[in-house]
Amino acid sequence: MSTELQALRIKIIFMLNIPCPYCGLRNETEFHYGAEAGVAYPDPNALTDEQWAAFLHIRSNPKGWHAERWVHFAGCGRWFNLWRNTITHEIGPVYLPFTSKPNPPDHA
Ligand SMILES: [Zn+2]
Repeated sequence: MSTELQALRIKIIFMLNIPCPYCGLRNETEFHYGAEAGVAYPDPNALTDEQWAAFLHIRSNPKGWHAERWVHFAGCGRWFNLWRNTITHEIGPVYLPFTSKPNPPDHA
């Protein structure tokens, strides 16, 4: 097998299937990652420049389950949240913005 075919095969193996709560299970190429989910937007006038910079640029970046915002740009165009394991890329519970956040799978 050529090197190009091996690279393509590896890429296909690691493709995610993401369950859009509106459209169902779709290929990851139809989605864009938004940001860490559940980060509260602070009043910028109540923060120092250092606190504001920390809000803009510092996120949790855990090894394991991570709550994330995604948009189904090639489908319904809607935003939703999900849990994704940053090690295995396993997808956990999917939930809508402004609803209660479910626990990640190993804390259910
Ligand atoms: Zn959708």
